[in-house]
Amino acid sequence: MSEVWPEIMVVVGIAMLQGARHAHIDAIQRASDELSLTTKVVELRTIEDLQQQDIDALLLPGGESTVMRLRGNDEASRLLPALFAWMRENESRPVLATCAGAILLADPQDGGPPLVDAEIDRNAYGGQVDSFESTLDCGFPGVFIRAPRFGEVRDHVECTLSGEAVGVRNGNRIALTFHPELSNDSRYHRMLLEACA
Ligand code: GLN
Repeated sequence: MSEVWPEIMVVVGIAMLQGARHAHIDAIQRASDELSLTTKVVELRTIEDLQQQDIDALLLPGGESTVMRLRGNDEASRLLPALFAWMRENESRPVLATCAGAILLADPQDGGPPLVDAEIDRNAYGGQVDSFESTLDCGFPGVFIRAPRFGEVRDHVECTLSGEAVGVRNGNRIALTFHPELSNDSRYHRMLLEACA
């Protein structure tokens, strides 16, 4: 495998709808090194950024979903509907969505069906002061920041915290309510890259 993978160049688009997303970019680089892959990260701010470059995978970071919806639907960007269209065009396209990104997948509000099939409640653990770190049932160090909470999950449960779903998977689309980019374990970023291979 390691003789083949370096030949492959994976292009990961990262939605930059709210501020810098450098922890995710670092995590992708780490995951890429661990898999001996060559990876290029493309920062997406507008629909043109998406049109100018063929991406293999998409990273939808956290932030504030209300702000991300406003910026992403703004005439100057129009990135958000274009990202949803990209996902819907080919259902197997790899997507990793975290926190507010998970809210956007579960509740895209673009007139189409949800991109992961689960109920989701915003800020369901409380506000900023109720942010916490807790080890998931699979051993992953979960960082929860003003995190949403899944209700009924109709897709595959990817990971749990005390038995409750905190990650949902629909094929190559993964929605996590925590922030995997803020821990040293790059397994979810590796999953995104592996789904491209
Ligand atoms: N509370 C945010 C929202 O509702 C999500 C928080 C996060 O992404 N860290 O969009």
